[in-house]
Parts: sequence; C-alpha cells; structure tokens
Amino acid sequence: MVLSEPGRLEPKEFSVPEAPDEGAVIEVEAASVCGTDLSLYKGTNDMGEFPMVLGHEVAGVVVDGAEETLNRWGVEVSDRVSPEPYLPCNDCEDCLQGHYHMCSEGRLYGITLSTDVDPGIWGGYGEYMYLHPKSRVHAVNDDVSPEAACLSSVVGNGVRWVSRKGQVDPGESVAIVGPGAQGLASTIVAKEAGADPLVVMGLSSDDENLHVASDIGATHTLYSDDPDAAERAKDVAGGSGFDVVIVTAPAEPAVNMAIDLVRPRGRLVQVGLLGEDATIPLNAIVSDEITLLGGRGQAGDVEKAMNVLERNAEDVARINSHTFGISEAETAINRQLPGDEFDSEIVHAVLVPDER
Ligand SMILES: [Zn+2]
Ligand SMILES: [Zn+2]
Repeated sequence: MVLSEPGRLEPKEFSVPEAPDEGAVIEVEAASVCGTDLSLYKGTNDMGEFPMVLGHEVAGVVVDGAEETLNRWGVEVSDRVSPEPYLPCNDCEDCLQGHYHMCSEGRLYGITLSTDVDPGIWGGYGEYMYLHPKSRVHAVNDDVSPEAACLSSVVGNGVRWVSRKGQVDPGESVAIVGPGAQGLASTIVAKEAGADPLVVMGLSSDDENLHVASDIGATHTLYSDDPDAAERAKDVAGGSGFDVVIVTAPAEPAVNMAIDLVRPRGRLVQVGLLGEDATIPLNAIVSDEITLLGGRGQAGDVEKAMNVLERNAEDVARINSHTFGISEAETAINRQLPGDEFDSEIVHAVLVPDER
C-alpha cells in the first residue's frame, strides 16, 4: 500500500527484485501500524518522502538474498526475521560511533525511503519488502508470533529508555506516563528490569490500554487526568516520588506531571515529542537535582530487545490488539485517528497478509 500523499493510501503493484544484488527480500508476515504512520497519513509529520510504502515495524520470512549479506545477518532463506527501521549509512560520524538512529542520511524504512528509489518496496505495508544490505536484521524464533515479532524495535525503544537511559535497577520505583505501544513495551522491559512498584498512567480514555498494562506487568495503573493523580501515584511510590519516570505521552501536562512524580535526584526520560516546545518548571529540576534525559528511537538496543521479546512474546503480542489485512490499512489507520471511525478498543493495530 503506497501513501502517495497525506490522506491518499492506495494499492500499487511492484515487481519483486529477483536475486536482489546485495540485499534481500522478505515476505511480510506482519507490519504494525505505528503512531508515525498515523501522522504521515494525517500530514502532521514532515519526515516522509512521498510516495512511500508505509511500514517500519515489520516481521517477515527471508525469501531471497545475497549469500554474503544473509551470512552477515546470521540468517538463511526461509528464516523468520525482523529488520530495524533505521537504515544506517555506516559512514557518517554518528553511524561510526554507533548512534545510527541519528545518521546524517536519515534513512528509515516506510518513512523516508520513497518508491521513486528502486526497487520501491521499502516498507512493510505490502506482500514483499526489500532489505538493503546495510540493514540491521534480527532472527526471530519460531514460537514468537508475527504480531509480537514486528514490535522488535518498539521493545528496542523500551530497552533504551528503561535500561540504557533510565538505568532502572531491581526494586526501583518506575512510573510510565502514556500507555501507547511505546509505553506498554517500556512496561514489559521495566518489569524485566525488576521495577517495583511499576505504575502506568494514562487518560481515562485510554482505559483499554491501561487494562493491557496491568495484564503485562504494571503493579498499578492510574488515570493521569484525575485531579489527585500525582499524589496517588506518589503514595504508591512511598511518598517522595519515583526513582525513574518515563514519559511517552506527547503532551505538555504529561511532562509537568512527570516532574512532579520524580523523586529528588531521580531520572526523567522524555521520549514523547511535543510538537511545539513545552514550558517546564526548570526550578524544580534544578532544586531537586533531577536528571532529565531526552530519548528518541534506538541504536544497538534491538539485540537485547529480542531476548526480552522472546521471553515475553505473548505479552508483547497483547500490544497489537487488533489485526487487519494489509489491504485494509486505511481502515486500520482511521480506527486509530480521532473522527467518526475512531475505536477506543484498539490499543495498537497490526497488518497481516490478506489471505490469512
Ligand atoms: Zn514506529
Ligand atoms: Zn550514517
């Protein structure tokens, strides 16, 4: 499915490259409908290179590929894999230092790779997807469902934010503000890291997401739009606040609440992009010596995420609560956008091949 321009998602035929020179081709098993896809469709995201095949959270089966490349990835034809969204150049300073999510070329499957660039099938909303030889590709265990496997990079984000940035230790108190896919994946990683208590907060309209959060490891869930939400959360953490607060919600009130929730000398990981810059109480950060950490995407975190994912495959699959055929991509998107078709029951949608 090609997003020709915001609001115009249409089916298009491509020829699948035979014996792709140095890359590989996968048959898509599942592609998750990320919030980024929603913003590209709405036209509120300026990263997109139109027209493009959407889909950067993908799982599939290798059907063809250059031997050397497959060897480097440690996979063979017919193996199940999940590619990372970032396609590094491996030459720029950021790539050379391992920060390939900040690569100067900014190549992202399903977002910045247009169909104008051969072979065009650079995204997961289709039957087949081409993988460039510089891709980072992870083998997927047979007992992990496609619905879970396609979230490898989302769990990778959780690993980065919870472990690498937040440095959560066993027994530390953690609050996650925002129960979308990113917040829920972070919940699974925080549970694995031994966070206790582990509080997930969301709006009362996020009821279904909060329900999933408690099923997959949150010790408590709270409505963040409750007037006394911060006080109640802090009570759970023992009064003075949380060791680590992770904010995935893209809203200024969420950041302000997080500064209130974090204990003196605690860590605050901010990953939800706010669109416009937010006003934050800097005095509180200074006087309480709060460590404020920015986070976006991940680099080198999906390896660890694959372990977390394999151990928690059923919980990860719970995030992708609703399944649609790839040809129903537009419906899947509209059900998650405010409007007539909005469905609050959907935590996160995933696309699978139509014949299933
Ligand atoms: Zn995404
Ligand atoms: Zn680079």
